Amino acid sequence: MSEEQQSIREIRINPIVPSESVLVATARGMRPRKKEEPAPRDTRHHVESCPFCRGNEEKTPPTIVQYPVAGEWQIRIVENLYPVLGEQGSTSGLVFGLQQAIDGYGRHEVIIDHPNHGIALHEMEEGHLRTLFGAYRDRMEALYRADPRIRYVLAFKNFGPAAGASIPHTHSQVIAMPVVPENVYNEVTNSREHFRKNHQCIFCALIDEALTFEATIYDRESGSVRRRINVGQYVVERGERFIAIKPFASRYEWEVHILPLRHQADFLTVTADDLADLARVLGRTMRRLDKVIGGAQYNYFLHSVPHGEMFADCGQSYHWHLEICPRTSIPTGFELGSGLFVSTISPEEAAEQLRSVEIDE
Ligand SMILES: [Zn+2]
Ligand SMILES: [Zn+2]
Ligand SMILES: [Zn+2]
Repeated sequence: MSEEQQSIREIRINPIVPSESVLVATARGMRPRKKEEPAPRDTRHHVESCPFCRGNEEKTPPTIVQYPVAGEWQIRIVENLYPVLGEQGSTSGLVFGLQQAIDGYGRHEVIIDHPNHGIALHEMEEGHLRTLFGAYRDRMEALYRADPRIRYVLAFKNFGPAAGASIPHTHSQVIAMPVVPENVYNEVTNSREHFRKNHQCIFCALIDEALTFEATIYDRESGSVRRRINVGQYVVERGERFIAIKPFASRYEWEVHILPLRHQADFLTVTADDLADLARVLGRTMRRLDKVIGGAQYNYFLHSVPHGEMFADCGQSYHWHLEICPRTSIPTGFELGSGLFVSTISPEEAAEQLRSVEIDE
């Protein structure tokens, strides 16, 4: 880390959601944040008592779909035994004055990512990752189609106890909900506003900047050149159709976003070729994260344009993406109280480390 990079202390505004900001404080002597120690990973292939392991299919609700359709499953989808939203919603009846509630109807499914109990995503074959993301797409499509009241289908993964995973066997989840979650709503409405004013998709513009932006930063007092921002300094990994970027205002120190290079609003429109390149870029990105931070515990989630009339005009302004958020430190009262995330490594430095680490081809 160079001298200049060590002295950053700035508040960065998320360009897509300006109400979100992050404090980048990499000053020397800054108190280290409490680190989340990676728990030793359970790398066993098969665990007799695990409901998600092969041979224990009767311990879960029945299979909704499996991949491949016939023979031994590689990916298996079941109803969540403890759904946060169910087919039948009900309210507490405690709706009065300013307190409002709506029926908590929806669907909650579990995707058992792989038959191997202890495998991590960075160890899975590209062909398998392609099928996994194809399964997300299929389930999202089916859930939107099954109930026209559904406003959003969120596909996500929690990996490791620090990321809230309650079952160690690798799995993802899909939740169909009757509301558009705030994070997505803010991105969709702000990017629509940006499009109205600038006639461009803000995500496409950010990809362009990540690839080509070049700037020189001058020292305020002496006027001398302090730092030159290099071309591609936020790029972690690049494929033919996808790019992995370290956001300029990352909430999590090792946060990486993967986006299609060509404008695409809805994840449901991905093609087989898209999925193949996505699998490659994701696999390589996860191997980089694993090498640099070691035993990453993380959450990832898909943000795609919500369905319904209210968002019918967002096809040009919104751009779907996958947000990967490794959990390397515990949020403190400062973060919870202020909503301001603290990063003690600059996103530029983190991107440089991720880009330059050697990974197996
Ligand atoms: Zn298992
Ligand atoms: Zn775009
Ligand atoms: Zn997003």
